[in-house]
Amino acid sequence: MKNLYIFLLVFITFFIGLPFPTPTAETPIIYWDGAGDTPPMSAYEQDGRYLRFTEFPILVYMPFDSKWESALENALQQVSAMVPIRRISDSTQADILISLVSPEDFLAATPCLEHQTEGCAVIRPVGHPGHPGFTVIGHLWLNTATALPPHHVLLHELIHALGLLVHSPYPSDVMYNGNDAFPTTLSLQDRATLHQLYTAPAWH
Ligand SMILES: [Zn+2]
Repeated sequence: MKNLYIFLLVFITFFIGLPFPTPTAETPIIYWDGAGDTPPMSAYEQDGRYLRFTEFPILVYMPFDSKWESALENALQQVSAMVPIRRISDSTQADILISLVSPEDFLAATPCLEHQTEGCAVIRPVGHPGHPGFTVIGHLWLNTATALPPHHVLLHELIHALGLLVHSPYPSDVMYNGNDAFPTTLSLQDRATLHQLYTAPAWH
C-alpha cells in the first residue's frame, strides 16, 4: 500500500505536474516561487530586499518601429496600472532600453540564450546598494522577425526587465513560459505577483 502511494505520488509529480490550485478573482495566486524552469524570486533576495526600480515613473526607450509601436503602448498601459512607467524619446535618460535586433544578429548581439529566440531581458544594479549613485537599469532585446505576437513578447520581457524573473505555472498568464495562447493582457496572477515585487523592500 505504501509503495502504491509513493508510486502514485511520483507519477503525479513527473507525469501530470504538481497539482496547482486554481486561481479565482477573489483569491489571486502569487507565483513567487516560479514554475520550475526559473529559480524562485527568493533566489534574488538579499537581506530581505529585491532588485527592482524605486524611482517613478520608470522611463522606457524604444526606437520607433511600426511592428512594435502598439505592442509597447499596450505593455506600458498594462504595467502603469500598477507601476508608474512611461516612454521617453531620449535613450540616454532611459531606465529600461528596448533594442530591436534582426534575427541574423540576434544571438551574437544580445545576451539571450539559444532557447531565447524571440527576446530576453535583464535588470542590473549599477554601483553598490547603500552607496551614492546606486541605480538600477533594465534592458530588453526583441527579435524583429519573431514568429510570436509582438504584444505578448514585449509585455512578457518588459515584466522580466522590471525585476520579476520568475515564470508562472498558469498557462493563462503572460509570464507562463511556452505559452500557446500568447495572452497580451496581464492576468490577476501576473498583476498580484508584480504588485508583490513592487511592495517588497528594494535594493537602494
Ligand atoms: Zn520569460
